Amino acid sequence: MAETLKLSLYDTMTREKREFVPTDPKRVTMYCCGPTVYSYAHIGNARAAVAADVLFRVLRHIYGEDHVEYARNITDIDDKIIVAAKEQGIDISEITTKFAKIYNDDLAALGCLMPTYQPHATEHMDDMVAMIEKLIVDGYAYESEGHVFFDVTKYDDYGKLSGNTLDQLKQGARVGEAEYARKKNAADFVLWKPSKEDDPSWDAPFGAGRPGWHIECSAMIKKTLTSEKYGETIDIHCGGQDLKFPHHENEIAQSNCAHNAPLANYWVHNGFLQMDAEKMSKSLGNVKLIHELLETWDGEVLRFALLSGQYRGELDWTDSLLKQAKNTLDGWYRILEQEGLEFISGNEPEDISLEAPVLSNRANCFLNYLCDDLNTVNVISELSQLKQNLSNGYDNGFDGSSPRIIPFSLKRKWNLLRSFVGTANLLGLLQKDPEEWFRGKAQEGGLTDAEIDGLIADRAQARADKDWGRSDEIRDVFANENIILEDGADGTTWRRG
Ligand SMILES: [Zn+2]
Repeated sequence: MAETLKLSLYDTMTREKREFVPTDPKRVTMYCCGPTVYSYAHIGNARAAVAADVLFRVLRHIYGEDHVEYARNITDIDDKIIVAAKEQGIDISEITTKFAKIYNDDLAALGCLMPTYQPHATEHMDDMVAMIEKLIVDGYAYESEGHVFFDVTKYDDYGKLSGNTLDQLKQGARVGEAEYARKKNAADFVLWKPSKEDDPSWDAPFGAGRPGWHIECSAMIKKTLTSEKYGETIDIHCGGQDLKFPHHENEIAQSNCAHNAPLANYWVHNGFLQMDAEKMSKSLGNVKLIHELLETWDGEVLRFALLSGQYRGELDWTDSLLKQAKNTLDGWYRILEQEGLEFISGNEPEDISLEAPVLSNRANCFLNYLCDDLNTVNVISELSQLKQNLSNGYDNGFDGSSPRIIPFSLKRKWNLLRSFVGTANLLGLLQKDPEEWFRGKAQEGGLTDAEIDGLIADRAQARADKDWGRSDEIRDVFANENIILEDGADGTTWRRG
C-alpha cells in the first residue's frame, strides 16, 4: 500500500472535497450504476465508466489490486428492453445478452478494466423481493393495486443528496393520473409493479411482477459489496450527475430505511458531456455512440479526450478535441518508438556520466495531482511537459534560484521515461506497442491495413515492371491518406502519419 498518498474526493453529499478514508483499507468498496442493455451506449455513458475506471485504478494503486472491490451492474429488465424485444419479435434475453457484451467490448476498447463484480438484475430478484418485504414490514413502503411504493415522507433525509425538498417535488410533480391515484405522495416511487400479460414476471408475496429500477441497485450493492462482517455501508458510490435525482436519492432512501445505515460514505458524480456546446439528446439528433466512434478512432483517443477534462466539470465533445487527443498521443507514442521499449522496460542503466541533480520527484507530482480529486487535466499537462523535455533531451528545471538547462544522464532519462510511461499506464493510456499504434486505425476513414499492404505489393510490382505511371499513382494515394512508407533492407514498412 502506498501509505504516503492521500486521496481526496469531492463528495456530492457533503458538497466538499474530503480526504478519502476507507472503512477498511484491506477491502475498499465502490459501486457504479451500469447500463440498461437494450441498445448501444453513448459517449456520455462512457464518460461515467471511464471516470469510475480511473478512480478504480487509483484505488488499486494506493491500496493494492487485491484490496479494492468494484461492482457495476447490468440492468437487464426494464420497459425499454421489453419494448425493443417486442419490436424485434425476440426474447428479452437475446437483446440483453447482445448489448451487455457490446457494452463490455466497447469499454474494453476504451481501456476500462472489468469491475470485480458485474451483477445482473434478473439474477437478484430474491434479494430485491427480500428488501421490499422488509421495507413493507418496517412501515417504509406500502402496497397499492398490485404495486409497492416507497413512502418518501418516512425518510427524513429525503432530498439531501440532490437538494430537492418534498415541497418542491410536490409542486413540480407531473405524474399520470392513474399512478397519482395509487400513491400517498406524488414523490413516492415504485419498488415493484405488476407485469402486463406476456411480459416477464417474477413471483413475490405482494403479487407477481417486476422491480422498479432504483431497488435493483440497492439490492445488488447489498448482495455484492456488503455483509454482516463489513456492515451495510460501502465506501464510494459513483455515477453520472444525471442520476443524482431521482435514482441515487431513491437508492439512499430505501437502503437507509432497510438497513438503518448510510448506503455510501462518499458520493462521486461526473459532469455532463456537451456535443459542440449543446446538450446531447436524441431529439437534437446529436447522440454519439461509443460503437460508432470506435469505427473511426482508436479507443485510446476517445479515452484521452474524456480525460482531458476533469471528471466533475462539463466537457465539450468536438471533432477538434478528438484530433488534438490523437496528435498528443502520437507525440507520446513517438517517444516510446524513439527510445525503444527494450530500453524503457529494461533494468536501470549503469551510467558513468555525472548524475544531474534531481529537480523534482516527477512520479510523486503526477500521483499527487491524480489524488487531488482525480485531476487528470494537470497530470496530462505535466506529462506533455515531460514529453517535451524527453524530446529535447534535457530538463529545464530550477537549481536553487536560477533556472538552467540540464542535459539528461542516461539514468535520469530512464527514470523519467519510466515515470512517464508508468503514469500514462495508470491513466489507462499508452497501452499499445508504438508500432501497433502507428499502424492503427486511429485515423478518420481511409484505407484498411489489408488495402495498404495490397497497394505496397502493387507498387513493388509496378517498379519492377518500370511502370512509373502506376507507381506514381500509388504514391499519390498514400500521400493523400497521409501514409508514410519506409523502404528498408527488409522491404517496405508503413505507418500512418
Ligand atoms: Zn444505480
